[in-house]
Amino acid sequence: MPGETTTRTQVVVIGAGPAGLLLAHLLAADGVESVVVESRSEEYVAARIRAGILEQSTVDLLRGSGLGDRLEREGDQHHGIYLQWPQERHHVDFVSLTGRSVWVYGQTEVQKDLVAAAQARGQVVHYEVSDTALHDLESDRPSVTFTDASGAARRVEADVVVGCDGSFGPSRGAVPESLRQTWEKVYPYSWLGVLADVAPSTDELIYAWHPDGFAMHSMRSATVSRLYLQVPNDTPVDDWSDDRIWDALSTRLGHGQDGWTLTPGPITEKSVLPMRSFVQTPMRHGRLFLAGDAAHIVPPTGAKGLNLAVADVGLLSPALVALLRRGDEGPTAAYSDTALRRVWRCTHFSWWMTTMLHTSEDPFDAELQLSQLRWVTSSEAGTTGLAENYAGLPIGF
Ligand SMILES: Cc1cc2nc3c(=O)[nH]c(=O)nc-3n(C[C@H](O)[C@H](O)[C@H](O)COP(=O)(O)OP(=O)(O)OC[C@H]3O[C@@H](n4cnc5c(N)ncnc54)[C@H](O)[C@@H]3O)c2cc1C
Repeated sequence: MPGETTTRTQVVVIGAGPAGLLLAHLLAADGVESVVVESRSEEYVAARIRAGILEQSTVDLLRGSGLGDRLEREGDQHHGIYLQWPQERHHVDFVSLTGRSVWVYGQTEVQKDLVAAAQARGQVVHYEVSDTALHDLESDRPSVTFTDASGAARRVEADVVVGCDGSFGPSRGAVPESLRQTWEKVYPYSWLGVLADVAPSTDELIYAWHPDGFAMHSMRSATVSRLYLQVPNDTPVDDWSDDRIWDALSTRLGHGQDGWTLTPGPITEKSVLPMRSFVQTPMRHGRLFLAGDAAHIVPPTGAKGLNLAVADVGLLSPALVALLRRGDEGPTAAYSDTALRRVWRCTHFSWWMTTMLHTSEDPFDAELQLSQLRWVTSSEAGTTGLAENYAGLPIGF
């Protein structure tokens, strides 16, 4: 393109979300240079309220790569979750069953830590770019073009391009249609999620089955609660006043049951989140690699989206280091198949949790769900299976 500025690096990373910035961090630690391009502003990406649960392998990886200091101080280790239905609440203790646990530490906090580390090492990140396009992916000199924040046309040539650009970025569509395969399941319900400035009414997350629909009590800190209600798809957020939300949460979460109470508080954020499962294979085409939401989406019930993104990058980074520093193509050749084993395990677990806990109009389904919940909470095999999947399998499983 006339007037285009061309630069060169080893890896171009598209997307500065958790997958993209973590990949750049891990590559830099092993002496591999990268340039990150991101369509949004740094502040916008850091403020997005999304995931909040880190599984054991994610925490181990963040600690091992020097990103664990604030997580250590401010993260809240949880030993399990509560599963409940009317008149019954059961604790599933991950630590006693599997020796693994999870941490409450918001995606916003992970993102802040990644941004701080990127700034400290002088990482090149082009924020607020437009027209991102991928080129020559089947050659050993692929490139990415974009218009930068000042309106200038740029091309970055590299050895490898990594698409960490989530569900709406251009990377997944850059795999030729004839070579890619996709699977998608859209669920007939959404989550109404709220953030509230009130201390959590529970020490660990509550997952509640209720005839009115699923509800969940999560948290972000000692003073901020995160709560969810199952709502029909396309529910306008304005249909739900704060009072209506707290009433529904009280009913579904069992306010008053065995002396437990839900404390309401000021709601600071409300949004409706549709739910779907999506997988695209392969996660590699030529010199393009996909990681995180660019390749797969899970409904949030299993708390797996962010953790899967971290696991992909945890596999991909050493594979790229082997390729770019030692000329060893083995690990990159294995990346897609290895990552997809975990992706499908988490896709199944997320679907299983979702369909066990969200109600439909069908009374037969309701009886099956209750039977499944009774079995999961009363059999050691049932609770251990849930604990093993929720606290997370090792990266590379
Ligand atoms: C509303 C919402 C709520 C969620 N809640 C939960 C939850 O409760 N629990 C859970 O586990 N998971 C949750 N998730 C999923 C979790 O947040 C994601 O799995 C996680 O963010 C994946 O990280 P990523 O880096 O792969 O993708 P993303 O975080 O989506 O990052 C992709 C980045 O690429 C950028 N990008 C897109 N297009 C371009 C382009 N053309 N050029 C350059 N950059 C581009 C985007 O702006 C974005 O910053 C939620 C997701 C959403 C959308």
